[in-house]
Amino acid sequence: ASAALGHSVIPIANKLQDIFAQLGSQSTIELPQVAVVGSQSSGKSSVLEALVGRDFLPRGNDICTRRPLVLQLVQRKKKADGTDEEWGEFLHLPGKRFFDFNEIRKEIQAETEREAGGNKGVTDKQIRLKIFSPNVLDITLVDMPGLTKVPEGDQPSDIEAPNSDLANSDALQMAGMADPDGYRTIGVITKLDIMDRGTDARNFLLGKVIPLRLGYVGVVNRSQEDILLNRSIKDALIAEEKFFRSRPVYSDLADRCGVPQLAKKLNQILVQHIKTILPGLKSRISAALVSVAKEHASYGEITESKAGQGALLLNILSKYSEAFSSMVEGKNEELSTS
Ligand code: GDP
Ligand code: MG
Repeated sequence: ASAALGHSVIPIANKLQDIFAQLGSQSTIELPQVAVVGSQSSGKSSVLEALVGRDFLPRGNDICTRRPLVLQLVQRKKKADGTDEEWGEFLHLPGKRFFDFNEIRKEIQAETEREAGGNKGVTDKQIRLKIFSPNVLDITLVDMPGLTKVPEGDQPSDIEAPNSDLANSDALQMAGMADPDGYRTIGVITKLDIMDRGTDARNFLLGKVIPLRLGYVGVVNRSQEDILLNRSIKDALIAEEKFFRSRPVYSDLADRCGVPQLAKKLNQILVQHIKTILPGLKSRISAALVSVAKEHASYGEITESKAGQGALLLNILSKYSEAFSSMVEGKNEELSTS
C-alpha cells in the first residue's frame, strides 16, 4: 500500500518543489526531501549513485560536490519490449533529455562552474536533476557539499571509515542540529568492506553504540580502485550482496544491510512523512492560492511578465490544491488502499 501511495504522492511533491524552486522568493511551502550529510569522502555521492544504479556524479579526490544537488528519482515502467529506458533532465534545461549519463556528469560540472566558479567555491544555489528509470524507487535526495576536513599528516582521504569514532561523526552532529529528536534521521554506515580486520559494524547497525529512532543501514560501495577500473555500479551492487551473504556477522541483519534496503527504507519514510504533512500542506496551498489570486487581480496594467507569472502560479496552485483535496479526503484510489 505504501508503494502505491509513493507513486501518487511523491511525484506531486516533486512537481511542487520544482515550481517553488523556480519562483524563488515566493517559496513559502516547505516540502519533504532527504538530505545527505557527512564529511567529505565519507561516501555520500557513492550512496546516491548506488541508489540510482548508474554513475553520473562528478568525481575526483578533491571536493566535487560544490552546490547542493537535488535529485528526484522517478520510477518509470519498463518499455513494452522489456528494455530499460533511463534518462535525466535538469530543471535549468527544460525538455532536454540526457540518455548518456556521462553527459549528465559533464552538465553538473559545467553548471557547478557557472555558479560556483572554476576553483573550490561552494554555493548554496541548487542544481535540480530528475532521473527517470525503471530501476529506482521514488525518492527525493539532496547531495550536500561535504564538510571539508583537511587530512592530517599522511592520513588517507578515506580516513572516515566506520572504525573511526561514530560518536564524533560530523554527519550525526549535523543531523542532530536539524533533527534534535531524531525522528527524521537514518544512519548510513559506509565502507563496511574496509573496516579493520577482526572488527565489524554489528553493534552500530543494531543501534547499540548510538541509538537512532529510524535505525541504520550498512552499505558497501565502489572503492576508488573500482572506479578507476571502470567497474559498473550494477556489478558493485552484486558484489555488495555477495559481501553481506558471505559475512556470518551480518546474516541476521539482512534488513539493515545493503543499498536496496536503504532505498526501500527511504521511500517508506518519505511517503509516510508526506502523508503526515498533507493536511497542513493543503491548507497552506489554499492560503497561497487566495493571496496569489488577490495579487493577480491587483496587477491591472503592471508589467506583462509579472502578471503572466502570477497567472501561471495561480493556475498551478489551483490544480494542486484540487489534487491535495482529493488526496486528503481519500478520494484518490491509490491513497485509499493504504
Ligand atoms: P563524498 O565526498 O561523501 O561524496 O564521498 P564519495 O562518494 O565521493 O567517496 C569518496 C571515496 O570513498 C571514493 O574514492 C569512493 O570510491 C570511496 N568509497 C565510498 N564508499 C565506499 C565503500 O563502501 N567502500 C570502499 N572501499 N570505498 C568507498
Ligand atoms: Mg560528494
